[in-house]
Amino acid sequence: MNVYDSQILAGLLQNAGYEQIHDPNLADLVLCNTCAIRHKAQEKAYSFLGRFAGTRIKGKRPLTVMAGCVAQKEKEKAFVRLPHLDLVLGTQAFGRFAAHLNALISGETRIVDTEPSENIFEGFSKDALPGKVQISRFVTIMQGCENFCTYCVVPYVRGKERSRDPFAIVEEIEGLAASGVREITLLGQNVNSYAGNNGQVSFADLLHLVSKVDGIERIRFATSHPKDLSNDLIQALKDIDKVCNHLHLPVQSGSNDILKRMNRKYDRDTYFKRISALRQACPDIALSTDLIVGFPGETVSDFQQTMDLLEAVEFDAVFAFSYSARSFTPAAKFSNQLDEQTKKERLNALLDFQEKITEKKNKSFVGKKVTVLVEGDSPKTRDGFVKKNKNTRQMFGRNDANKIVHFASDRAAIGDLVTLEIINAYPHSLWGEVCESD
Ligand code: SAM
Ligand code: SF4
Repeated sequence: MNVYDSQILAGLLQNAGYEQIHDPNLADLVLCNTCAIRHKAQEKAYSFLGRFAGTRIKGKRPLTVMAGCVAQKEKEKAFVRLPHLDLVLGTQAFGRFAAHLNALISGETRIVDTEPSENIFEGFSKDALPGKVQISRFVTIMQGCENFCTYCVVPYVRGKERSRDPFAIVEEIEGLAASGVREITLLGQNVNSYAGNNGQVSFADLLHLVSKVDGIERIRFATSHPKDLSNDLIQALKDIDKVCNHLHLPVQSGSNDILKRMNRKYDRDTYFKRISALRQACPDIALSTDLIVGFPGETVSDFQQTMDLLEAVEFDAVFAFSYSARSFTPAAKFSNQLDEQTKKERLNALLDFQEKITEKKNKSFVGKKVTVLVEGDSPKTRDGFVKKNKNTRQMFGRNDANKIVHFASDRAAIGDLVTLEIINAYPHSLWGEVCESD
């Protein structure tokens, strides 16, 4: 979501006559689009912007802008640690960014705009597309969240849940497809509750609409909340060929007691039932999840239940985080906070355990054929790469289960769909050989 928002902000800066450069020390303006989800992300933003306090090239300091969730959360407080900051631009203030830029250029400083906006800002500019063709792009379909999970800062910094107009979404995707994009990831904090056009267009309907856009070969989406995973969506996953055979379904914990105190509104059993329904409809579906380790009051037995759930479900990928207390959230005030060492030990144990499961899942692909969407040259040479002639390149792509597959080819190009036979599997990727007919 932040990548997408950063592209909107980059487009607005381009419209105002700015050009992107790669050395921030030489910039006239430095903008940091921030994430507040964990303490560490917030600290990184402060430390990055702190670097420009003393920067003066030819007697000039760059204008410094803090945008996004930390800006929304911190408001005027941001000036305490960053007295040189010129603009604090909240999550719903993008539509007013151009006006604030003009004010800054006229000499105004220390502007704070964290006011809400009635509508979602429809400012995605095609000019914000990076110079080189990108095959896969994010598209935000909704903003905000009203679920109020007790650990999460999102409802306080992103506001009420609002769905974008379905026709604006389709129009944006048509533009992306025309510029060479082949894969779209639709984004929202809880895409299952998408209700476009005053509630007349559901998320499953939107998937059908997007699948009709010529040029788009693959559709992904994130994130689905288990409590709202509807049968309609499961059916859409099954029926729409362009929708990838992968679902990211964050469970957060395997303990009913913790799930209740997280205010997740489902229990372990309901989660298992949803997974069964999914696997019944789409037997090979790849599953990934988010987990929080060390939530306040998490006992050894609660943690063990999370490990048991990992063993039972066998996710393809897991994104696990150590619990981070966030201001405004109820859980930050719970009395039974765990120490950092315990959280770290549990997180490491969980990641080690999952790595074996992921490797086992990856190995199950050996000998099978998969189709990948080619994304580019692999960053480093892998075992199995043989340069057969001067045109041979080592490239990579993802299959529809979102697995990264490296392969060697003389003629594959970015954006091609290539069929590969999987020869080898590693914890984080696969190695494949191009099938002769391709
Ligand atoms: N809306 C999504 C959902 O409910 O699954 C999650 C969005 S959140 C931006 C991404 C992930 O960050 C969450 O799934 C959760 O695992 C993690 N997260 C959120 N708040 C956290 C916190 N206070 N400490 C650690 N991890 C957190
Ligand atoms: Fe945060 Fe829960 Fe909303 Fe996800 S559903 S963004 S975890 S409050």
